[in-house]
Amino acid sequence: MAFYDFGISSEVLTFAKETEEGLAERFAAIDAAAERNQYKVIAAMRDARVSEDCLLGTTGYGYNDRGREVLESVYARVFHTEDALVRPLIACGTHALSIALAGNLRPGDELLSVSGRPYDTLEKVIGIRPSPGSLAEYGVTYRQVDLLPDGTFDLDAIRLAIGPKTRVVAIQRSRGYQVRPSLRIREIERAIQCVRAVKKDAVILVDNCYGEFVEDLEPGDIGADLVVGSLIKNPGGGLAPIGGYIAGTRECVGNAAIRLTAPGLGKEVGATLSVNRSFFQGLFLAPVVTAAALKGAVFAAAAYERLGFPADPGPDAFRTDIIQSVTLGSPERVLAFAKGIQNASPVDSFVTPEADDMPGYEDPVVMAAGTFISGASIELSADAPLRPPFAIYFQGGLTYPSAKLGILMTIENLRKEGLLPEGRL
Ligand SMILES: *Cc1c(COP(=O)(O)O)cnc(C)c1O
Repeated sequence: MAFYDFGISSEVLTFAKETEEGLAERFAAIDAAAERNQYKVIAAMRDARVSEDCLLGTTGYGYNDRGREVLESVYARVFHTEDALVRPLIACGTHALSIALAGNLRPGDELLSVSGRPYDTLEKVIGIRPSPGSLAEYGVTYRQVDLLPDGTFDLDAIRLAIGPKTRVVAIQRSRGYQVRPSLRIREIERAIQCVRAVKKDAVILVDNCYGEFVEDLEPGDIGADLVVGSLIKNPGGGLAPIGGYIAGTRECVGNAAIRLTAPGLGKEVGATLSVNRSFFQGLFLAPVVTAAALKGAVFAAAAYERLGFPADPGPDAFRTDIIQSVTLGSPERVLAFAKGIQNASPVDSFVTPEADDMPGYEDPVVMAAGTFISGASIELSADAPLRPPFAIYFQGGLTYPSAKLGILMTIENLRKEGLLPEGRL
């Protein structure tokens, strides 16, 4: 590696080798899951009879876009749902969640989150923070049940919170950027069963961002009515240049489609231009790309724990998403870490990330990403608000070697700048 002049010292290289040797079993388990998910995707593509013409696109209204229809059928098969909406017209994950919610709620209905505070960007969608066009402005009320202190569902409180107005029950699988564990499929299943026991016809929506292909099952396998995510995260496989998906029951997906396009149009319009190929190919690659990101996360957790920094999840923990946080304890370390990730990137490697104010955040935030698809967090990236406890969130890596290189460069930076605890490296 030194041959390529990444500036990584032999101490760090030796440390990396030792760290990696301890991870063989974890990596084998990740590879095995990727293999199962790879076959799931190929089987779905075979069953849906994907053909070469599906890879082409349409223009204008996009009527009879066979590629789009077959792609949506592939997603429905992968997520084991009746239907799916997978479109470049969906701008991002927040947009997908917004239309899934707005399409399935009516004035007077209540939205109940049972996994606590939702992802930041949803606060304005829902109207937790007032915003023009929020669900609140359309007469949709919101309540939430927080997770218990140990990060599990508060099933008793959920039972009590469901009322006659409760229409959509939302669950967020990934921790996002919160201090709580991500919710594994088996736990989500218990929460869904609990909701169904009280209210059979509730629409259960799972925000699946960052979770796709980490486990063998997805929320559609355990009874969710709506499964929603972003294509510039796991299921886009690094190739999708834009987009989101909503998989679920025919009725719920149809309601979301009406909100995306217009009443009377629904899923029938929406040209795919020339993205179909990247959607299909990205989904095909997604299981192994997700596995690469997971290995990078596990390697980071193991390396940083050995260096004396708390990693969450720990290297041996069960995972249900690709997010890794490391508590670095000082702003200098956060900046050195971000710089390492940036400098290891294939794009914009020469840039030095700095902390700056960001809309919606109270403290300055530093972000590192040198990505082929702007902002894609399935690619190697890291972000951190500059505030105690100075934790950095790290995710992605289209290939394991690239994720590993990023981590090594973060460690080398900390070492060079004398920011590692005494006696480590
Ligand atoms: C990323 C993410 C979103 C929003 O997706 P964007 O594409 O950034 O709009 C929503 N929920 C969770 C849990 C996420 O990780």
